[in-house]
Amino acid sequence: MSAKKLTCLDCGQVNRIPEDRLTAGPKCGTCGAKLLSPKVVEVDLATLQKAARNDDLPLVVDFWAPWCGPCRMMAPEFSKAAQELGPTARLVKLNTEDHPKAGATYNIRGIPTMVGFAGGKERKRQSGAMPAPAIVDWARSV
Ligand code: ZN
Repeated sequence: MSAKKLTCLDCGQVNRIPEDRLTAGPKCGTCGAKLLSPKVVEVDLATLQKAARNDDLPLVVDFWAPWCGPCRMMAPEFSKAAQELGPTARLVKLNTEDHPKAGATYNIRGIPTMVGFAGGKERKRQSGAMPAPAIVDWARSV
């Protein structure tokens, strides 16, 4: 049976989850954190880099900052999209004010910017706030 690699967003451990367990609320073998939460998780640069490199599920990152109005408007839409997508993709947020190196590392020129990773590579990116249905469509095509 094929397994999917998923990086724990809490402790950074790379877990292998059998495909038929993805919908069963899989947890990290090291720290017990949920690997597929319907909630959007805040990540730091190191965790993001690890997950972007290793994960077999599409990873969508919302680069944002607290001072950015459109970012704050998009936040609830991004959360709705995460719930809608369920275990087919992981949606995470990175606060570029708390982690300024991340913006430079990923060449983020404006926020909000969404970047989609799959198979260890960046697949697409888009700047500007989007409503939940558009985020869902966008994430499904990563
Ligand atoms: Zn963990």
